[in-house]
Amino acid sequence: MPESLTEVYLTYLAGVGLWILECLLLIKCSTYLKLDQEQIENAREVINKLEEVEIQGDSVCAICLDGLILGISLEPCRHSFHKECVMRWIETSQTCPYCRAAINM
Ligand SMILES: [Zn+2]
Ligand SMILES: [Zn+2]
Repeated sequence: MPESLTEVYLTYLAGVGLWILECLLLIKCSTYLKLDQEQIENAREVINKLEEVEIQGDSVCAICLDGLILGISLEPCRHSFHKECVMRWIETSQTCPYCRAAINM
């Protein structure tokens, strides 16, 4: 029966097509993950270079809610946090924990 043979062949082709699509998706995903890792490394470097300054007045770090005496200010919003807190924070998000502005990198 030539008809059903064609059907089988088409199903097979569709299967292979899907498989290729899945492979492409996987490759794409892994490139994204790798980029993320690079971005985090880059962000950590930038934050690491920021100098800690004495924070004026009664300030609280919005990440750990502890008092803030020495901290770093993020650009461009100038909100201040502990350096270690920001170092941990940027691994999950590269926005200001307080106002959600994108941090200048
Ligand atoms: Zn803190
Ligand atoms: Zn901010």
